[in-house]
Formats: sequence, structure tokens, C-alpha cells
Amino acid sequence: MIAKMSSTPGKQRKSGANDAGGPAPRRLVVAIGGNATHPENIRGTTEEQEQVAARAARSLAPLLMQDNRIVLTHGNGPVVGKILLRQYYAREQVPPMRLDVCVAHSQGGIAHLLMQGLEDELHRDEYERRVACVITRVEVDPEDPGFKNPSKPIGPFFSEAEARNLEQQLGWTMMEDAGRGWRYVVASPRPRRILDLELIGALSDQGIAVIAGGGGGIPVVQRPDGSHAGVAAVIDKDLTSALLANQLGIDTLMLLTAVSQVAVDFGKPGQRWLDTVSASEMAAYMKEGHFAKGSMAPKIDAALRFLAGGGKRAIIAHLDEALPAYEGKAGTQIVAG
Ligand code: ADP
Ligand code: MG
Repeated sequence: MIAKMSSTPGKQRKSGANDAGGPAPRRLVVAIGGNATHPENIRGTTEEQEQVAARAARSLAPLLMQDNRIVLTHGNGPVVGKILLRQYYAREQVPPMRLDVCVAHSQGGIAHLLMQGLEDELHRDEYERRVACVITRVEVDPEDPGFKNPSKPIGPFFSEAEARNLEQQLGWTMMEDAGRGWRYVVASPRPRRILDLELIGALSDQGIAVIAGGGGGIPVVQRPDGSHAGVAAVIDKDLTSALLANQLGIDTLMLLTAVSQVAVDFGKPGQRWLDTVSASEMAAYMKEGHFAKGSMAPKIDAALRFLAGGGKRAIIAHLDEALPAYEGKAGTQIVAG
């Protein structure tokens, strides 16, 4: 049954309200990459970002209209980079925010555009589904090895003199990045626990499409007294998506990105695209070094962790092919085993 606005005005079906014996709604976590929020080739005007969100919405709406329960996660790399750049230029006038606060800002801004894009797209088809954003905190281990050796460069490039200045003025750790200039480097600890899990699950159970865990989540650590504090770190959004799916007991994880499938010998003469692969086969490819660090490797890592943690199917596919990928007609399907 599809909730058409014309027939059920203002109504949203509830979990389990699948009338008499209908199949339970299918649940999935869908992660969308940087291309779906802020591709590198745009200047980043608000209008451009709206168009990018609308494009993501066009691909995702058919999945929602199948009445699936979807938790949507997203990357925030370029957006948080621009927040840092603004802080840099305004640092004499406005005190800069710590990185966890920047991530929270990016979650709100990106989700606003995605919510609007999705609701508009659904509305066009007279399908009613509310979309909500949960500003999501993710607990990391203060002893995570990532903290001892911050190594993830984020945001804009600076000259060495500017970098030294930033170290003094803002306390940023700066590092030279592959001959391209100096960048702010932060720890990238593993996600350990999604603090806002129950809230996300409860909204999803009501049939609300939930945007959560944006940018990998706001990194927080637990203090000895049990309270939490934000920290300057960046959590990998693919790993957070996998953890979110596992902790919600969702058995399908879809990672949508800028490439149609996963390849072995990617970009080399013998390149081969993968259709359906078992987790053990994928782990062997990973060991052989087929997946680039910082791009495809974290996705494979996340997919394998998800399957090891009880997931049944992880899909890596192009953002424009959300529905065919979910139906097994596109993308790379990684299955337990
Ligand atoms: P996202 O923003 O969606 O996380 P990334 O750029 O981090 O996207 O990762 C996806 C990219 O990984 C692809 O666009 C592709 O260029 C690259 N990539 C690296 N190795 C592979 C591989 N073996 N197969 C497919 N794509 C790969
Ligand atoms: Mg990525």
C-alpha cells in the first residue's frame, strides 16, 4: 500500500501497521557520499547545493516510495572544509568553533537541503513521507590509537607560514600533505557507540525517513563520571553507517558513491568490475590491496564489518542507481559468507 496524499491526507502509517498480514516494511541504511552533498566541481553556492540535493533526492525517492524504512547517512568533507575556511578568515572577529561543533553545523545544513529535496520530490508524486534529521553524536574511545597520531587532513591548504600561525592562534595540528601544502590534521577514531540510536530507531519505526550520523557523527568521548564531551576528530562516515545498521538490527547497508561498482585492478589494464561477491572473497581482495586508502578501502572495511556484525547484504553503487542497486540489478553486492 502506498500512502497517497489524496487518499490519506496528513497520515503517516506506523510501524507494524501494515494492514492484515502484509509483509513487514524492509529496513535499510543508505549512506551517500560527498558527491551527493557537495561535489568538488561546484563553487558551493546555496543554489548549487540545492540542485545537488535535488539530484540525490530524485534517486532516493523511488526507494522511499516502496514504503521502505530508510535511515540516510551522508558525508560532509567539502562542507566542513568550507566551515574551517570561514573560521580561518574570520578568526580575528569571531572565535572559531571546535571541530565537533563544526560537524554538528554541517549535519544541520546538509540535512536541511536533503530534507527539502526529498520532501519536494515525494510531494511531486503525491507521496507523503516526512523526513527528519537527528543531530547524531557518536562515542569514540579516548584511548583510540588515532588520537595519539592525528593523521587525517581536512579543509583547505595553507602555506607553511600560515600553518605555523594557525598552530599558535587556533591550536590546530598542521601537517604537510603530499607536496600540495599544509593542512589541519585530526584524529580519525573508530566509531564505538551511536548515542542517539534509540531516537533514530523510534522515528524510523514510525515510517519517518531519518537523516542521521552525518559526516560520520559528532565525535564525543565519555568522561569518567559518565558524561560526554565533544572532541576535535573526524569519524569515517562509512564505518558509522555500518555501526548504525548493526546497532539498529538492519540487515541491508547501501553505500552510494561516485562509481557504479567496485573493481579489482581499478584503473589498471586488467580492471574487472564486481557484481556479487562473498565477504571472504572481498576480504581477500582487500588484502591484495585493490582498494584505495581513504576512498574505497573504508567502504569495503565498513561493508565487511557490517556483515561480520550480523548484516546480510552490503551494496556499493552509484548514487544515481539507488533503486536498481537495491533490487540487485546494479552496483556490487557483498553477501555474508
Ligand atoms: P564518497 O564521497 O562516496 O565516500 P570516495 O571518493 O571516498 O567517495 O570513494 C569512492 C571512490 O573510490 C570512487 O569514486 C573511485 O574513484 C575510488 N576507488 C578507489 N579504488 C576503487 C576500486 N577498487 N573500485 C572502485 N572505485 C575505487
Ligand atoms: Mg569517502
